[in-house]
Amino acid sequence: MAQGIPDKIMTNTTLIKDLADVAKDAALLQGVLMRIHETPNSSELVTYAPFTLFPTPVPKAVFLQALAVQTHYNTLVDKISQDPDFLEEALASTIAVDDFTARLFRIHQQILKEGRSQSIALGLNRSDYMLDQGDDGSSSLKQIEINTFAASFGGLSSRTPDVHRHVLKVAGQLEESRRILDNNPAAGLAKAVAKAWELYGSERAVVMFLVEKGQRNIFDQRYIENELWKRNISTMRKRFDDVIKTGSLDQDKRLFVDDQEVAVVYFRDGYMPENYISEKTWDARLLMERSLAVKCPDISTHLAGTKKVQQVLASPGVLEKFFPDQPRVVEQIRATFAGLYTLDVGPEGEKTVAMALAAPDRFVLKPQREGGGNNIYGSEICQVLQGVKESTERMAYILMDKIHPAPVQNYLLRRDGPLKISNCLSELGVFGTYVRQGKDMVMNECAGHLLRTKSSEHSDGGVAAGVAVLDNPLLV
Ligand code: ADP
Ligand code: MG
Repeated sequence: MAQGIPDKIMTNTTLIKDLADVAKDAALLQGVLMRIHETPNSSELVTYAPFTLFPTPVPKAVFLQALAVQTHYNTLVDKISQDPDFLEEALASTIAVDDFTARLFRIHQQILKEGRSQSIALGLNRSDYMLDQGDDGSSSLKQIEINTFAASFGGLSSRTPDVHRHVLKVAGQLEESRRILDNNPAAGLAKAVAKAWELYGSERAVVMFLVEKGQRNIFDQRYIENELWKRNISTMRKRFDDVIKTGSLDQDKRLFVDDQEVAVVYFRDGYMPENYISEKTWDARLLMERSLAVKCPDISTHLAGTKKVQQVLASPGVLEKFFPDQPRVVEQIRATFAGLYTLDVGPEGEKTVAMALAAPDRFVLKPQREGGGNNIYGSEICQVLQGVKESTERMAYILMDKIHPAPVQNYLLRRDGPLKISNCLSELGVFGTYVRQGKDMVMNECAGHLLRTKSSEHSDGGVAAGVAVLDNPLLV
């Protein structure tokens, strides 16, 4: 492995077995935890969150490039969220055929019509990248997507550096262990939430984490909650059901849930159609959107994070509209774009269909969904496109160049998983936070990173989806 863990360690099965035991205990000691699949709503039985035995080499220049562009991505997302004309045009084709996006868009339009009650915006996003390998061995940073809704693992990734440091020391790799970077997205995310809470301006009001039914990944969120409690900001965990049963607005549109005034709603649920089990769930979303509470994200920032918007941003001249006098910013953002192609009805979309059918292995076909496991690869692209290519249904998708990161060998540690060497691919995420009040950006920061690694057998990713595992970059 180039500039990584020496082969004599990687292939020493006795040592690897010992290191794996050391690593798992270190993860448990550090609190890199998840509840178990069987009992997602009980902390009686927990396990370590899946992670790699070793950190993964990442070129320093590319890593720094990802950090450097983050505040510009924050600005871009925020500008898009405030541009209803852009959102309407960008999403017109999608909402004509995709019911879920259409439903979100209707809420967005209703809020626009009524006028936004709250001028404070809170963004906690994560821009994800893979390093595309050039023929000459170089690697270039290419964005996979930006998550504006429920971007996770900021908590657990604050605890993984010490795990890998420890493993490397036990493996006799002291110099490498020193190269593991500190990382504390939990503190950075909480700092932005705290700022929004403070601007909301009520000591009594709380931060509400809107959480899923199955809460396996609760510890990831607890880290952020704890950071808020340290600042004497109260948090509460509620579900859509709680909002349905007890949520209300007073005459000033202040949001109350279980008799508590809510200053900030931090959505960790509500990004998938399956999260909206009934009309009442949609009503609850609308209630929160209309309220005076700061929403993270608000409905327009949610829409700004769709894959269709990502594709439209890659069209010529679009970034320039958002940064008219900042060619360097445009250049910095655009350098991270992979090829993205429309499937809208019309000649451009026809070209995309023909291109994808001719070489499906070069692309990924993406619907407007989040959470992993939704994308389409290889021959399945042909099957799906053959079915929809003559109809408007194809507008529900976008096409993207497939990124090819260099595979690296590692061991993926997960409960009940076999200990075996795997060919792995990594995805680097960068957390960004911002708070805007009216026209003033009062905070715009890069809040840390996340490396996730999966076996190259899998096309799709996602730690929650059970494919990727937590990792750390080892800068080289
Ligand atoms: P989701 O919203 O489901 O997370 P993503 O766009 O992040 O959707 O895709 C899920 C996973 O699929 C990524 O984590 C990555 O592993 C893989 N993937 C997505 N786009 C590409 C691409 N262009 N090239 C290679 N792999 C990709
Ligand atoms: Mg993703």
